[in-house]
Amino acid sequence: MNLLYEGKAKKVFAADEPDKCVVCYKDDATAFNGQKKGAIEGKGAFNNKITNFFMGMLESHGVRTHYIKELSDRETLVTKVEIIPLEVIVRNIAAGSLAKRLGLAEGAALACTVLEFCYKSDELGDPLLNEYHIAALKLASPEELEAIKTAAFKINGLLTNYLEAVGILLVDFKLEFGRFKGEILLADEISPDTCRFWDAQTHEKLDKDRFRRDMENVRKGYEEISGRLGL
Ligand code: UDP
Repeated sequence: MNLLYEGKAKKVFAADEPDKCVVCYKDDATAFNGQKKGAIEGKGAFNNKITNFFMGMLESHGVRTHYIKELSDRETLVTKVEIIPLEVIVRNIAAGSLAKRLGLAEGAALACTVLEFCYKSDELGDPLLNEYHIAALKLASPEELEAIKTAAFKINGLLTNYLEAVGILLVDFKLEFGRFKGEILLADEISPDTCRFWDAQTHEKLDKDRFRRDMENVRKGYEEISGRLGL
């Protein structure tokens, strides 16, 4: 297969049809903008099935996504979109960089859901952007940004409710969107690499923070989330 792009956790290959491509999930793990590197055995397969499960669930509730079909334990056929260079971060509870930046305790309640945008740029370290920056840099049109914001809140509601029923707190997560034939589609992944998932009872971390923070059993989040979803 013809490799189109290789990122930190995934490779993207050309598919037979020009409007589609194949995503292949790797076991490689990175954190802190690539400064910490490692591998988590089986992670690629877990993230493939967890992402596809969530994409399918969101599609069934009217969210348009790039997901087409799972091809193997690590590979998925998706619509080839033009990625909008924004990390769209949704936060329900203070954690990670928000807790640090605003001097909040990790786990502190937020009076409302917080939406943040970061510029997808490894060289710049993914800086935080507001809507004026997005307009000034022409990263997305006002209409596209409205569609992204509406989708992000809808996705948050659907994921939060689904996860609550299986005893998981959705603390925060990152989304990416792409353009395809005039439409905005949800792209990239929804997995323990891109979300903070806490056990609702114990607040145990079930996500990539186990790797970021050198905790024991870095595989646990992937296994546990997959198990709770019945995958
Ligand atoms: N996130 C991500 N990729 C990034 C940055 C953040 O998937 O490049 C996710 C991260 O897993 C968390 C949320 O976005 O669920 C918020 O991350 P935060 O800004 O707290 O940054 P971090 O603590 O990951 O550096």
